[in-house]
Amino acid sequence: MPVVSLRFALGTAHSNYILDGLKSLDIYLKTNNPKDFRPTFRKKTCKDVHYFPDASFTSLDVSRLIFESNQAQTLCEYHRKGKANTFKADTVTELWSMGFKGKSVSTATEVTPPQEGHLHCGCPIREVAMEFFLWKTTCGLSSNPGLAGWIYAMKELAKQKPSTRSFWNKSIRNYTGLQAEDLISPDYGSDLFELCITLIQLHTQIQRLRILDAPVVVHVLFPDADNGNIEAAMVEYGIEAEVITKAVQLEKYWKELNAKRSVIPLPLITPTRKD
Ligand SMILES: [Zn+2]
Repeated sequence: MPVVSLRFALGTAHSNYILDGLKSLDIYLKTNNPKDFRPTFRKKTCKDVHYFPDASFTSLDVSRLIFESNQAQTLCEYHRKGKANTFKADTVTELWSMGFKGKSVSTATEVTPPQEGHLHCGCPIREVAMEFFLWKTTCGLSSNPGLAGWIYAMKELAKQKPSTRSFWNKSIRNYTGLQAEDLISPDYGSDLFELCITLIQLHTQIQRLRILDAPVVVHVLFPDADNGNIEAAMVEYGIEAEVITKAVQLEKYWKELNAKRSVIPLPLITPTRKD
């Protein structure tokens, strides 16, 4: 599978530093104590697009923690570097993409719990986490034919305004049906991850065809899932190795998608010209 790993571009010292970050994160995942995922690694993860991409697809909780300061205050990069007038709140006429008016305080004693689902700056955690994931994992090619073959990482997370961030979040979610929780998964990079991401989009498009009463019938089949002769022990092995039970796993996942996931029509605006 053509997975592009940005780590290959890094030197040994950098790789060791990444391993230290990984160890620090692993300790946090066992203890759930934010201090164990050391702020020095969290800050570097936000500043350097090449550094420790795993932090962007471990969990929503870890993505939130990346933006938590020593004072336990969570601010997105835009608001951490911004001035007081960058804090706004959505109104009935303006979507600033900040659900609530946040603030930045200077001491730990002034920090109060943020609104549910939001950072202290008022930005929704899911949108900040999805932007962070896309920033860390997206590879780009230049439009210049002379630069064909070069792969580039993304730059400048800090300059994304919440409204710009929300624009990309909402566009991607609307057209693909993918949510932040689908993308932020510790099995990112595996065949199974890519298959599940593709199935979610397939489910979204099939459901939309049904909503539209489109004259098509789509049956999704997992032929190998019918093989009932696999020994239980082999099934267990297969789950670990992601080999034997892949079709069974995918069929189970597909059934879950159909049972639990609701799909809405693509939210289109009313065109000005209708003829
Ligand atoms: Zn923010």
